[in-house]
Amino acid sequence: MNMTDRRIREVLIVGGGSAGWMTAAMLAHALKQDCRITLVESEEIGTVGVGEATIPPIRLFNQTLGIDEREFMARTKGSFKLGIEFVGWGREDSRYFHPFGPFGKDFDLVPLHQYWLKARADGETAPLDDHSMAWHMAKAGKFAHPAGDPRSVMSTFDYAYHFDAGLYARFLRDYAEARGVTRIEGKIADVALNGETGFVEGVTLEDGRVLGGELFIDCSGFRGLLIEQALQTGYDDWSHWLPCDRAVAMPCDHPEGDRNPTPYTRSTAREAGWQWRIPLQHRVGNGYVFCSSFLEETRAGELLASRLDGKALADPRALRFTAGRRKLHWNRNVIAVGLASGFLEPLESTSIHLIQANISKILALFPDKDFDPATRDEFNRVAHGEMERIRDFIVLHYKLTQRQDSELWRYVSAMAIPDTLQLKIDHFRRYGRLTARELDLFAPPSWLAVHVGQNNLPVSHDPLLDYRGIDARDWLARLRGTMASEAARLPRHADVLARHCAAAA
Ligand code: FAD
Repeated sequence: MNMTDRRIREVLIVGGGSAGWMTAAMLAHALKQDCRITLVESEEIGTVGVGEATIPPIRLFNQTLGIDEREFMARTKGSFKLGIEFVGWGREDSRYFHPFGPFGKDFDLVPLHQYWLKARADGETAPLDDHSMAWHMAKAGKFAHPAGDPRSVMSTFDYAYHFDAGLYARFLRDYAEARGVTRIEGKIADVALNGETGFVEGVTLEDGRVLGGELFIDCSGFRGLLIEQALQTGYDDWSHWLPCDRAVAMPCDHPEGDRNPTPYTRSTAREAGWQWRIPLQHRVGNGYVFCSSFLEETRAGELLASRLDGKALADPRALRFTAGRRKLHWNRNVIAVGLASGFLEPLESTSIHLIQANISKILALFPDKDFDPATRDEFNRVAHGEMERIRDFIVLHYKLTQRQDSELWRYVSAMAIPDTLQLKIDHFRRYGRLTARELDLFAPPSWLAVHVGQNNLPVSHDPLLDYRGIDARDWLARLRGTMASEAARLPRHADVLARHCAAAA
C-alpha cells in the first residue's frame, strides 16, 4: 500500500463565470485544508452573461454549500420555476407543459398515464397536463413549496429557480473568497506544457505574472483555453442533430400592470428556432435561439424585439455556438467545466446542471498527484453518457414536431437521429411504456410530457392494464379537481417571493 502523501496541494481554476465560481465554491467547501485554490478571470473578456433557468438538482448544490434559499433568492433576484411551457412545438397551435415531477401519483402497478391513455381512448378529453399539480399552480401564477406528506397532491411536484447567473456567480464568489479562495484579475496570454508528459504546468498573464498548479479546472467558456487551445482535445460536433447555432438575448420589463412573474419558463417555437421567456424578480429574460442557415442575426434581433411582452431594457446581444462536446472532459491534468466542456442549447435548461454534474464528478473522482488514468477514463465515460442522454432528450423535441411551415422544421422532422433516441421513440410508440436508461438526467415523466405533448401517442396502452380490472376515470377526474382546488387556495408567486426575500434581510 502506498502510504506517501500524494495529495494535490494547488488547484488553479481558469475563468470566473458561473462555471468558475460554482467550482471554486464547491472545492472551497470540500477541500477544507492543505490545498490552495486560486481562480483567475479577466474582466476585459467578461462572461457569457446569459443562463437564467435551472432544473431541480440545483437545490441540492446550494444545500450542500449550506446556502439559505431566502438569501439566495434575494441576492440573485430569483424566482421559482415549476417547469417549462412549450408553445407551438408539436403544431403551430399546440402547447404543453413539461413539469418537474410526476403526473399525479401512481396508485397501481400500472403507471397512472396508462389509465389516462385508456380513458382517452374511451372518449375522455382532459389533457395529460391537467394531472400535473405543477401545471395547475403554474397556470394560476401560484407557488408553494412541496408538502412532505406523500398522501397530499402537494407532494407531487418539484421545483427549480430562474435567477440572474451573473449575480449567482457574484454570490458564490463571496462564498468562495470567504473560505480562502484567492481571486486573481488578469488575462492569460500563454499556457506552459511539460515537454515530457504534456501536462499543463502553469499559465502566464499578459502582465508577466506566472500562475502554477497541479490540477487545472478549465472554466474559460467556449474558447476552452486549456482543454482545447493548449491540449487540442477535439470536439464532437452535433450540429447535424441540433442545427441551431446562434442566439440573440434581450431582457425586458414585466408586462405592464402584471408584476406577478410566471412561475415557469416558456419556450415558443419560431420560424427558425425558438424563443425563451424567463421571468426574474426585476425583469424578464428573453432570447431567440436559431439556425443561421435559415435566419440572419439582425433579423432574429428584430423579430425578438417585436415579440417581447414588456418594454425592452437593452439592445439584442448575439451569441454563437456549436452543439457538441469536448472529446474528453478530463485530459491530462485539466478538467473542463461549463461551456469549455461543450454546449447543448438551453431548451431544457441543462448547462448550469452540467456544470454541477462535472463538479460532482470532480469530488467523486478527485485525483491525487498520480492522475490515475482509470479514474480519468471513468470521469469521461460518465460525462459523455450524461451529455448524450440530455442531447437525445433535446433532439426529441425537434424530431417529434409536426410543423412543416419553414425550412428548419422540415429539416429536423426528417433528419436521422441517434439510434439511442430512435429506440426510445419506437418503444414508447407501441405501448406508451417508458424505461429509464443509465445516466438519464430526465426521468420517465419528462419523456412522457414531450412524447404526449408533441403527439407521439402510443398505438395502444400497456397490456398489463387489461388484467387489473380497474376503471380509473372517476379517480382521474377527482385528482384533477383536487389539484385545481389546491392551486386556487395557494398564494401568488409574487407574494411568496416578497415574503421569502424579506425574510432574508
Ligand atoms: P463564461 O461565462 O464564458 O466564463 C468564462 C470565464 O473565463 C470568464 O470569467 C472569462 O473572463 C474567463 N476567461 C476566458 N479567457 C480568459 C483568459 N484568456 N484569461 C483570463 N480569463 C479568461 N444555462 C442554463 O443552465 N440555463 C439557461 O437558461 C441557459 N441559457 C443560455 C442561453 C445561451 C444563449 C447560452 C449561450 C448559454 C446559456 N446557458 C444556460 C449556459 C450558461 O450561460 C453557461 O453554462 C454558464 O453561464 C457557464 O458559463 P461559463 O462559466 O462556462 O463561461
